[in-house]
Amino acid sequence: MLEIKDLHVKINETDEPVINGLNLTIPDGEVHVIMGPNGTGKSTLSQTIMGSPKYTITQGTIAFNGKKLNDMATDERARLGLFIGMQYPTEIGGIKNVDFIHAAMDAVADKPVSVLDFMKRLEYVMDFLDIDESYTDRYLNEGFSGGEKKRNEILQMMMIQPSLAILDEIDSGLDIDALKVVSKGINAMRDKDFSSLIITHYNRILRYVKPDVVHVMMEGRIIKSGDYHLAEQLEANGYEPLREKLTKTE
Ligand code: ADP
Ligand code: MG
Ligand code: MG
Repeated sequence: MLEIKDLHVKINETDEPVINGLNLTIPDGEVHVIMGPNGTGKSTLSQTIMGSPKYTITQGTIAFNGKKLNDMATDERARLGLFIGMQYPTEIGGIKNVDFIHAAMDAVADKPVSVLDFMKRLEYVMDFLDIDESYTDRYLNEGFSGGEKKRNEILQMMMIQPSLAILDEIDSGLDIDALKVVSKGINAMRDKDFSSLIITHYNRILRYVKPDVVHVMMEGRIIKSGDYHLAEQLEANGYEPLREKLTKTE
């Protein structure tokens, strides 16, 4: 279970506070969605959960399965079972995609994953996600299209098998076939021991992945939570009606 209490985060470079008293609990086995206007701190939140050095927690706590993450290094968080798609560098010259994934699996496993086990699983997951065989020889995200990068994130997730996956804008810029593949991967991971935080602008992915909870984030905190009907409401009315509520309650 992920438990975030009264979180305040600032950007180091500018000292600007971006997360302002955010509370969020994601129990094991649940898929949660965060929606919210641009610049409201969604990516900052995911980066902070994973321990990006660009941000500083000035108040509050992030805990995962009872362990406080605030001062934990990113690789330690990964070993606890956290995964964030966007964390991975978009392009690293000279590293093959498969080698990167294998190294990432070894880094979180108790013992190294044998080449045979790795290849068996890779073949299965690539087939499941309909990823072309030529992929294995390609270098990390080099020359990948937006859709291929997203598919790759899902491939990494299915290989690493984290207990909590944070997927920031996993559906942005995807055509309908890629969206279905990405959704299929997330649904395949669903399990009592797996939870996920999907950050999205669009509710079209929610046609394929049914979330347990939808949260609205504005001005650096969660201001409303509900079931997937909340996403439909947002699509119909936008965020402005909620902004009014935000200023009134302050
Ligand atoms: P969202 O993902 O909701 O669109 P972000 O978390 O990306 O929002 O950004 C929140 C605010 O913080 C924005 O005003 C953005 O410009 C600013 N910001 C985020 N990261 C940085 C950074 N590394 N340097 C400077 N400004 C940043
Ligand atoms: Mg943004
Ligand atoms: Mg963002």
